[in-house]
Amino acid sequence: MREIGHFIGGRHVDGRSGRFADVYNPSTGAVQARVALASAAELRAAVENARAAQAGWAAQNPQQRARVLMRFLELARRDFQSLAELLASEHGKTIPDAKGDIQRGLEVVEFACGIPHLLKGEFTDSAGTGIDVYSMRQPLGVVAGITPFNFPAMIPLWKCAPALACGNAMILKPSERDPSVPVRLAELFLEAGLPPGVLNVVNGDKEAVDAILDDPDIRAVGFVGSTPIAQYIYSRAAATGKRAQCFGGAKNHAIVMPDADLDQTVDALIGAGYGSAGERCMAISVAVPVGRDTADRLVEKLIPRVQALRIGPSTDESADYGPLVTRAALERVCGYIDLGVREGATLAVDGRGFRLQGYEDGFYIGGSLFDHVTPAMRIYQEEIFGPVLSVVRAGQYEDALALASDHLYGNGVAIFTRDGDAARDFAARVNVGMVGINVPIPVPIAYHTFGGWKASGFGDLNQHGPDSVRFYTRTKTVTSRWPSGIKSGADFVIPTMR
Ligand code: NAD
Repeated sequence: MREIGHFIGGRHVDGRSGRFADVYNPSTGAVQARVALASAAELRAAVENARAAQAGWAAQNPQQRARVLMRFLELARRDFQSLAELLASEHGKTIPDAKGDIQRGLEVVEFACGIPHLLKGEFTDSAGTGIDVYSMRQPLGVVAGITPFNFPAMIPLWKCAPALACGNAMILKPSERDPSVPVRLAELFLEAGLPPGVLNVVNGDKEAVDAILDDPDIRAVGFVGSTPIAQYIYSRAAATGKRAQCFGGAKNHAIVMPDADLDQTVDALIGAGYGSAGERCMAISVAVPVGRDTADRLVEKLIPRVQALRIGPSTDESADYGPLVTRAALERVCGYIDLGVREGATLAVDGRGFRLQGYEDGFYIGGSLFDHVTPAMRIYQEEIFGPVLSVVRAGQYEDALALASDHLYGNGVAIFTRDGDAARDFAARVNVGMVGINVPIPVPIAYHTFGGWKASGFGDLNQHGPDSVRFYTRTKTVTSRWPSGIKSGADFVIPTMR
């Protein structure tokens, strides 16, 4: 059995805790490797490596650090195909979709190549007579990233690229379900010239996470995963004085106005609802048609499209989506479909019981579509994280706006309309962090920032874009005066710019 260990101090290190987790090939259902689960002592060893390496890395000037990122981009492009295959084999998403996962991560590396410019501080000449004030952005030291299974390249890169560019050393604790790509990315960073110890990958579960949260030398934690864990990490990180940004689950609504181009909207809902088997935090899981006629027409068009979805192994380039990540995920999603039926929703398309010939043990499920879902139902309130779209019928625009705004989660939302006034009003008023106007998955580009609201995000700074530079640095402000500017003796009153 292949064993996946840790990557600490620039080399592979076997796990020593004696604890392991199975890593599956979701397409076949077979266990393909086992990953080591780090103990607190192993995590501490990684932190010591990171601490020792950080000062030298921070002392390199920002252009030198950017050149390492540029070289990394070249290497990642060289290995693009093999990275995508590795990713798909552990996650289950199709290879084209795996390439998108890597590409969205590389775009943040590209953004971070601008670090010499991004790190420039502020300067005020002659704030008082002979007095200059300037600010510097300095790295925090050792920081940690704790990432989910569903984007095993993109989210580790969203954490690592800005953190490293700013001069920090990083402990990355990826998901134990698909740990190989994060380890491979760390190897590529080393090959690109990153000094050993600056990026360490420690595989593990709650024990490693708790050791991160309690470690006095880790100054910041960036987390992405489910909401209960995000909330737990946010509070425990704060208790030990760390900076934290913790992004959680989602229930993204798509509002469909009566004037929307329905064919385009259906295309968008099918891609955003069922792509990657619905295992995206920006997947659309709720469609909200406004008015009965819109709802009837929408559902009529959706049904044959959901029935026609092509499901295949991750290696089938023509598949619309692949298997779910684990058998437990499959059982959870099926459980939600059972629940929706019990709650009285209309199951217009039932994906349970889907079997793929030749892959009978894989974690596959067909697409499901619920109609007449109501806000009182748990299938509306909770994140299903599978290829299940719920239609909640709204009487009017204001009802649709209220549904998205009042939901517990506030990650992404979209509106489909031809009416600029309605779209503008919606973007301004909806209580959700990322909004799409005729765009179903409004993941902001790398130089803007990504972050949900309400139970989808804890902390005040978003991921990537300018916020990431703020998150991974602290500001030092210097007020300076040279001896020739000192005109009087001791001053006992608080200095003001008289
Ligand atoms: P998860 O919360 O189970 O795991 C995320 C990370 O936390 C993993 O590294 C895992 O090892 C660790 N972890 C799990 N249980 C823990 C515990 N009890 N104590 C400490 N650490 C623990 O999430 P997942 O299933 O890997 O990912 C799917 C979830 O992530 C979904 O809810 C999805 O919406 C969310 N997600 C959110 C975003 C976003 O930006 N908001 C992006 C991607 C995924």
